Amino acid sequence: MPAVGLCPEPARAQPADVRVLTLRIVAEEMYRARPGWEAELRRTVKTVSDIYERAFQIRFVIQDVVSWTIGPGVPLDTILRRLHGEVPIGSADALVGFAAERCEGLNYGVTQLFGRVAMVQTACLDTAILSNTTAEAVLSHEMAHLFGAFHPGPSGAGSVMRYGPADRFDGQNLRIIRLMRARDFAAGVQGVDAAQRRAWMAVYAEGHASDEPNPLAGAIANAGEALVVAGKEREGEGLLQEAAALDPKSARTHTSASCCSSSGARRRPWSSCATCSGSTGARRARTWGWG
Ligand SMILES: [Zn+2]
Repeated sequence: MPAVGLCPEPARAQPADVRVLTLRIVAEEMYRARPGWEAELRRTVKTVSDIYERAFQIRFVIQDVVSWTIGPGVPLDTILRRLHGEVPIGSADALVGFAAERCEGLNYGVTQLFGRVAMVQTACLDTAILSNTTAEAVLSHEMAHLFGAFHPGPSGAGSVMRYGPADRFDGQNLRIIRLMRARDFAAGVQGVDAAQRRAWMAVYAEGHASDEPNPLAGAIANAGEALVVAGKEREGEGLLQEAAALDPKSARTHTSASCCSSSGARRRPWSSCATCSGSTGARRARTWGWG
């Protein structure tokens, strides 16, 4: 039986058009070392694409599969930052990395709300056992974040955003992804207009994981950080103020630079400090982002 708050039959009020999301897939050396890796990778993406098409009329299309070498013993945060910096997105909407045997604790995936880069971890101790840690579940979870989905509160338990399998979405995130399904990935969170941000906040206010900072505020703050670093101080500060207004309770939001510069270092963009990780939801990220 579905848990309370879940919507197992999400095929209502579907838009007529299919939104195609193009992906550049990146496979690191340990993933590629496994026999049949590319067929498995394509199966994983197809499975999740079919789920998204049924639920949201969103279809994932693999534009290309790129080989990448990480090297041994690289932490998850570093992997995401390097992926972002070393592999161009090109003309794709999003970049998705697949890695094997690189899990850290209970972190199976990593991305950023309204971002365009995600990592999926596979071949870890429990990814073959727990339904919420399969590659399909992790990919579904991380792709949902790219469309603005957040970790719901207890009413969303059993959703892919909170300990559930790939094809289970809670009612809040169903609305969020439908709201954002046409968003321009290249525009980042700045492409999410004021009305959409208000709508997102209204859904988020209904309930969410209690131990995490507001991820929309985090995404806006990180966009502001990136602008400041790029020399667009005025524009960047405006976004930082907007983030603080969205999440006044979180001192981290207002002092978003602190996660990057607590040691006095210069501000750095999001990739160094704000990642979302974990496929199961409701876990804190290692940094001020959210898990
Ligand atoms: Zn997450």
